[in-house]
Amino acid sequence: MASFSWERPLVLFSRCLGFDNCRYNAQIIGFEFGRQLLPYLDHATVCPEMAVGLGVPRDPIRIESDRGKGRRLVQPSTGRDVSADMEKFAEGFLDTLDPEKLDGVILKSRSPSCGIAGVKIYPCTGKCMATGKGPGFFGDAVLRRFPLHAVEDEGRLIDRGLREHFLTRIFLFAEFRRVRAAKKMDALVAFHSRHKYLFKAYNQSKASIIGKIVANHDRLPVAKVLALYERALRETVAKPMRPTAIINAYEHIFGYFSDRLSKQEKEHYFALMDHYRAGRITFNVPAALLKNWALRFNDEYILAQSIFEPYPAELTMIVERSE
Ligand code: SF4
Repeated sequence: MASFSWERPLVLFSRCLGFDNCRYNAQIIGFEFGRQLLPYLDHATVCPEMAVGLGVPRDPIRIESDRGKGRRLVQPSTGRDVSADMEKFAEGFLDTLDPEKLDGVILKSRSPSCGIAGVKIYPCTGKCMATGKGPGFFGDAVLRRFPLHAVEDEGRLIDRGLREHFLTRIFLFAEFRRVRAAKKMDALVAFHSRHKYLFKAYNQSKASIIGKIVANHDRLPVAKVLALYERALRETVAKPMRPTAIINAYEHIFGYFSDRLSKQEKEHYFALMDHYRAGRITFNVPAALLKNWALRFNDEYILAQSIFEPYPAELTMIVERSE
């Protein structure tokens, strides 16, 4: 089987995640997952607080609720309100990013600027306890601008499943760039064919919709089909794979070989699936068995399925390692 050539995804990082000592206290965050990914990616970095002239070191800023009128980003020690500056910077900076070239974003968790969720919101300007949570100012702008891109914070990426989900999406989106550039139906059909079972494992109903788009029964022009397909692709993989959908995808693949397997082999497969259902093993274990059968029966179509290798195999150790 020919080896697959991966596209390099483009990922935007918060600059303090291992790139620069730009935190308020002139510190840097050690971010091993990001550091290990760098050889496989193209990347850009941003520090919104430095970009609005807050300097390093600086007194911390925080989000305050503005008595029902919205939120403000303020520096309590000086009373400086940087909300407008931050919003202006965020919109201007995001305008410089091409949504067709950007695949993912990893932002610093819990930051009033970069956080994408769970950032403390204070109900007053003086001393008080935080009473709410939400996204930071820049993180919120990123989520609004790129709702279907792979956007995460480094805190969430401690979770093994979310690391896998993030990598799967950025390599999928990067590969789709090749299809978009080719502007040919046969390139789209080949892409869809390679990812058919991955899509089923993500979301069966969306996988069915995306399958109808590529079938193009209405004979739409290629550019229109590509635009519809890209939107549906991003929606299909928007949320992590669900165990029931994974089991369903595996059942389909199992069906390719089941009549050529011995009773013991089938029992072994069913036992593994029971372990997977019970959460005792990850889905990679039955996947390895299915791939072995694809090798044994020399099934090129199944062997090419991205569900067995949704991102470069060299990255598996980074995903498996718990930090
Ligand atoms: S969290 Fe964002 S704004 Fe704060 S130091 Fe890191 S990159 Fe800069």
